[in-house]
Amino acid sequence: MTDTTHTHPTGPQVPDLEPTLEELRPGVYAWVQPDGSWWVNNAGAINGGDGVLVVDTCATAARTRRFLDAVDTATGGIPVRLAVNTHQHGDHAYGNSLLPTAAVLLGHPLMREGLRVDPVIDGCPPLWDPVPDWGPVTKRLPEVTVASALTVHLGDRRVDLLHPGDTAHTTGDLVAWLPGERVLFSGDLVFNGLTPLVFMGSVPGALAAVDWLASFQAEILVPGHGPVVIGTEIDRVLDEHRRYYRFVLETAEAGRALGLSPLEAAMQADLGEFAEWADAERIVLNLHRQYADHDGRELDLAAAFADAIAWLGRPMHTFV
Ligand SMILES: [Zn+2]
Repeated sequence: MTDTTHTHPTGPQVPDLEPTLEELRPGVYAWVQPDGSWWVNNAGAINGGDGVLVVDTCATAARTRRFLDAVDTATGGIPVRLAVNTHQHGDHAYGNSLLPTAAVLLGHPLMREGLRVDPVIDGCPPLWDPVPDWGPVTKRLPEVTVASALTVHLGDRRVDLLHPGDTAHTTGDLVAWLPGERVLFSGDLVFNGLTPLVFMGSVPGALAAVDWLASFQAEILVPGHGPVVIGTEIDRVLDEHRRYYRFVLETAEAGRALGLSPLEAAMQADLGEFAEWADAERIVLNLHRQYADHDGRELDLAAAFADAIAWLGRPMHTFV
């Protein structure tokens, strides 16, 4: 796939939404799904010669099947023996049941618990337009949990599964790090060119996790959403995340000082350099998280989503 856009007959360019399997290093693959917005995630696969480790599945049965078929073709049918979920969100985990039964699925204990109680896989509420249909998926939870670190040896390859040490994108994030190849699968600790989402995590925690990600000195970073990031672009993308999280913290602090609700604070905020990113309404969700944490209370998920839709003036959009 070389062209990234095609011209719509009536004029405006529409994005090419075909996913691609990108070989980053020999046998190390990123499954990149444009445009990376709500529910359209990236995944990955690492071929160790006699077995494949899969990093995340996709939101729907059809997308997951397509991903696993592409990996099967690329590896010449090497079986998937292991898989890991980088976090609990359905776009990375609802397709788990499409994995081979014999493959061992790994995840953080809080990721496992989050997916265990997730009702959205049984029917998505009409917060998005169109309302996603996951297809024939069933909930599959990790059989093995990784609280802080686990090393997988795949032939000569080493893959470290690591928790950032604190709540960041969610309470149970894991990254997959290949020290030999210097490839980092960050999950949703990185959204490349799209609005980061931390409403089920922590804004200061996500900010701290950016420094942790930088410390790997990766040469290739596979974000949870958006294009693969290479070389010096990694620092630039991580800096964007720092600026965005600081913007959320400052907007929350200013909003509280003025007695504004999260929605009111978001309405008044100037998104500036972040205004062009897809899923900009996440500012409302992220502010809800920061307000709740500041007040020491649970996030009201339903109220946060209702406010995001109010900010947008319509349901959130998805291509899934
Ligand atoms: Zn996520």
